[in-house]
Amino acid sequence: MGLFDKVFKKKAKKATASCSICKAHMEEGEGFLLSTAQVVSSKAYWDHKMVEPETMAYTHAHFKSKDEHATKMRGIIFQKTAEKDQSWLTCESCIRHFDVDEAEAKEFAKEWWIKRDSFALPNGGAAESTLESETFEDVKNYATMEAGAQSMKYA
Ligand SMILES: [Zn+2]
Repeated sequence: MGLFDKVFKKKAKKATASCSICKAHMEEGEGFLLSTAQVVSSKAYWDHKMVEPETMAYTHAHFKSKDEHATKMRGIIFQKTAEKDQSWLTCESCIRHFDVDEAEAKEFAKEWWIKRDSFALPNGGAAESTLESETFEDVKNYATMEAGAQSMKYA
């Protein structure tokens, strides 16, 4: 391969990213962009999140032995996620966990690929400052007390 081919190839290389939820590889222009408020207000997201390998032990102990520490850890996981001041880029399969306007989220993703971190979503930032307090308390309670029960067969 000649030098010019190499230079051309480098320039033609597209940007990539990972899905914020499942870490799947994503190509430039793909996906959907969600705010932290949209992510944490999805109960389906929590049902999925609370049975992942790193959270499964807490969920198991929370339901099976009503372990207070495990319940507290689930609350902390919720809180840490809700505090994130970031945009979430999600892939085609993860978007199914969210009840959002997909066409709009796709448009936001396209803008994000161009502007990256300088692109600010409307209603971005920490979830507690963008969600109604009633909604916030409701999802916080769901994530801490109920999420994952079905797949753990405690529901
Ligand atoms: Zn994904």
